Amino acid sequence: MSIKIPPDPTNSNPSSDSYIAREKKYLATNYKPLPVVLTRGEGVWVWDVEGNKYLDFLSAYSAVSGGHHNTRIIKAMNDQLNRIDVPSRAFYTDILGEYAEKLCAFTGMDKMLPMNTGAEAVETAIKAARRWGYRVKGIAPDKARMIVCDGNFHGRTTTIISFSSDADYRADFGPLTPGFDLIPFGDIDALEAAITPDTCAFLVEPIQAEVGIKVPPAGWLRAAQEVCKRHNVLFILDEIQTGMARTGQNFCFQHEIDKPDGLTLGKALGGGIYPVSAFLARADVMDVFNPGSHGSTFGGNPVAAAIGLEAIRQIEDENFAERSATLGQYLKDRLSRIQSPAIKDVRGMGLLIGLEIDPAYATARSVCEGLMQCGLLCKETHDVVVRFAPPLIITKNEIDWAVEQVDIVLKTLA
Ligand SMILES: *Cc1c(COP(=O)(O)O)cnc(C)c1O
Repeated sequence: MSIKIPPDPTNSNPSSDSYIAREKKYLATNYKPLPVVLTRGEGVWVWDVEGNKYLDFLSAYSAVSGGHHNTRIIKAMNDQLNRIDVPSRAFYTDILGEYAEKLCAFTGMDKMLPMNTGAEAVETAIKAARRWGYRVKGIAPDKARMIVCDGNFHGRTTTIISFSSDADYRADFGPLTPGFDLIPFGDIDALEAAITPDTCAFLVEPIQAEVGIKVPPAGWLRAAQEVCKRHNVLFILDEIQTGMARTGQNFCFQHEIDKPDGLTLGKALGGGIYPVSAFLARADVMDVFNPGSHGSTFGGNPVAAAIGLEAIRQIEDENFAERSATLGQYLKDRLSRIQSPAIKDVRGMGLLIGLEIDPAYATARSVCEGLMQCGLLCKETHDVVVRFAPPLIITKNEIDWAVEQVDIVLKTLA
């Protein structure tokens, strides 16, 4: 059924069960991992404690674009650690400006504010948008509203889950933060209808990844930007997952528009090894922040800056966007040719692809469990979609092998 490597007889840690039991005993159960215990990674491959080898087709939700044991990122991190680590932003450093200049040039934005996790970058975007609403647009105190989309995923803080349309994300975490209006994703008339004089911003993902790789209708992003411009509403894109060459362009917005008013980045900005995020914006939006109005102890530290800088350089030097476009199209074509009644849809852009499973045949979870048995690691998003987001360094041969495993598993299920 697979080309799974036989267990290594010299391995002294043969049982996954004890690791799983220990995690279950001491960790909150806010995740439901597949039952595989990983111990090593190299490029697109990872190994479990029993010596089995797997192709990583998730890359930490698009964070590990350069693959595991990414020597360029490791070297940049180590070199920086050997100079200066974390002095805090109470002082200037010799690398933060260089990194910020590079990130602004790479995205086309004017200014950046460095944070650590994706959720913090989104929180920063919300604070910037609200303050811009009051101080520049002239919205009355505490009246600012933001428009967001059904099926959104922007992180897990209390404010961010306040505007999630997923009841599970919100349940019993209230009281929730007010000031958000939900519209259907991809519906331009609904966007225009939802705007009021109190609307400061529209926050949206160019592709809704978490909810099942939902790709909006072509032209939606451009149209949404035009509507926002006409009503003096900030157009803010969350490219934490779709950015950094994941969808076949350096940023997903580049398929349709020049640049948004605000942009959040994270995940692959940290080279897959360290939390590095940022909010980027037009100068007049970013300038609403004054000393003391926002901050982060670790945000913009020299290690993060060195890693972010190297992550961008790697994307440029190794043509990640082109690889993602070409190999993504290849993967999508190959998946589309699989003859299986269990496949309802294959969709996505670049190397961010969703395989929708007909629930009459199987759950996405059971497909992922089958793929794991075959040596292919991926993760379901919600009940019916399997997300494929391999490292962008993957080769055609490796994709061929992965598609064979998908074919095998679907045949067994159907
Ligand atoms: C992952 C993700 C986030 C949250 O990032 P964290 O680092 O997990 O806080 C926000 N928005 C999008 C689109 C994401 O994919």
